[in-house]
Amino acid sequence: MPKIPDCDRCLMYSYDPHLVCTVHPTGPDGDRCIDFRLDPNTQAEELWQPDGATYYNGELILQPRQRWTQEQQLELLDWHPMFTGFCPRCGAKYECDYTARVHWDCGVCGWMDDTV
Ligand SMILES: [Zn+2]
Repeated sequence: MPKIPDCDRCLMYSYDPHLVCTVHPTGPDGDRCIDFRLDPNTQAEELWQPDGATYYNGELILQPRQRWTQEQQLELLDWHPMFTGFCPRCGAKYECDYTARVHWDCGVCGWMDDTV
């Protein structure tokens, strides 16, 4: 198919092997398309970065301090005794001033906190 490089980033691109796009079914004339519309979704995909890493000068740099994805951090809110005040394994209640604790190992069932 005579598509041009822009087609991959175009809103009109059909992603169909038998059809280049809805405006130019057989592809645009020449190497420029007058109907080119940048697809915002495609652009976002190009800027995608894995969790805990970032692109710097075109190189993927891992950020070791970001051990937790945002999703994992939200999950922590649901079960971690730091937020719930209860042991995630046996359900034992932590001391009343549990928010001041540093270690979260459970004295009842022996659950060990390996998240911090
Ligand atoms: Zn426990």
